[in-house]
Amino acid sequence: MKTIENYNFNSKKALIRVDFNVPLNENYEITDTTRIDAAISTIKKILNGGGSVILMSHLGRPKEGPEEKFSLKHILPYLSGKLGVEVLFANDCIGREAKEKSTTLQPGEVLLLENLRFYKEETKGDKSFASKLAAFGDVYVNDAFGTAHRAHASTTVMAQFFPNDKIFGYIMGNELQNIDRVLLDAVKPFTVILGGAKVSGKIEIVNNLLDKVDNLIIGGGMMFTFIKALGGKVGDSLVEEDLIDTAKRTLYNAKKNRVNFYLPVDTIAAEAFSNDVASQIVASDEVPDHYMGLDIGPKSMRTFAKVIENSSTILWNGPMGVFEMSNFEGGTKAIAEAIARATQNGAFSLIGGGDSVAAINKYGLGDKVSYISTGGGAMLEYIEGKKLPGVAAVKG
Ligand code: AMP
Repeated sequence: MKTIENYNFNSKKALIRVDFNVPLNENYEITDTTRIDAAISTIKKILNGGGSVILMSHLGRPKEGPEEKFSLKHILPYLSGKLGVEVLFANDCIGREAKEKSTTLQPGEVLLLENLRFYKEETKGDKSFASKLAAFGDVYVNDAFGTAHRAHASTTVMAQFFPNDKIFGYIMGNELQNIDRVLLDAVKPFTVILGGAKVSGKIEIVNNLLDKVDNLIIGGGMMFTFIKALGGKVGDSLVEEDLIDTAKRTLYNAKKNRVNFYLPVDTIAAEAFSNDVASQIVASDEVPDHYMGLDIGPKSMRTFAKVIENSSTILWNGPMGVFEMSNFEGGTKAIAEAIARATQNGAFSLIGGGDSVAAINKYGLGDKVSYISTGGGAMLEYIEGKKLPGVAAVKG
């Protein structure tokens, strides 16, 4: 298979689908450059290999055609500075200007196309739109893992115009390699920790992983649907009544698969969803009326930390409690610290999903875990066992 490492970019024009969907403030300044920074190594690899680069991305969610606040021209100064070359810009991602600028592009030069989503054909996966973009280059490079779960023109459909010249960039390659290491090659014991508000977003992950994991730890609001399914009393805690039967089935399947299913034995409960009311530690299946469990309790923290520290592979998605409030962040912090300790002792740890990434960074442990996935929704779909169209299009 052709890869970014073995492909000969000499005199080739590479069309790279990047994810430059960065947040901008009201002065159109970038407030978080992570996504642009992450793409630099792929761009530089191609330039250093004697190629030229045409960058394609979306920015925000424009409704109907071009909108100033979603123009990619705002990122030009930062991108040029970061790359050390002046990046050219086409004010329309297709059409005459883009055609002329891509035709005359020389090795070592970089052209950024205007926001792809100014055309509704992008999200519709329109083939004719994809073919217009494809005509600008010789090789297709997909480096936008965050949109790999969408069958859009630039993320998926375009690849068919490059049957022998389609590859993943470094971001894509890294994400897939690290997630596959957990899904396909986990060294045992393998522990998965799931939290967050709802069971509904996570149940497919649980089902996909039941035949792979040794330990499944459930915390966060989602624990109460399971505790209620087991006959516990959960007070006003978050429960998805319509998923109680599903939770029962999952508990049964976990037993059948000999998975150690860890639910918190205690919880920190409060009379309101607020940091300013008194809270108390109670048994998680004995939550008093009018109280809601907003974090896992100290006994659970200790048990979970021990399981994590005895693991060789760890996957964590979702906070253990309402970690945005200081009174209910202890569980999430304890889990993050246990994962960092396990990693230090040789375990491979993968953190994914917006809130757990925010949490690990909040506690300054970002560089103490093995890999942090930036994929968001794409990462979740991948660990649910779904085929990502953007990945399949390049691999196929
Ligand atoms: P999710 O997007 O499903 O991963 O949920 C993340 C959110 O779940 C965070 O904003 C947490 O505050 C929230 N959360 C975690 N534990 C609880 C809980 N016990 N009750 C209510 N919300 C919770």
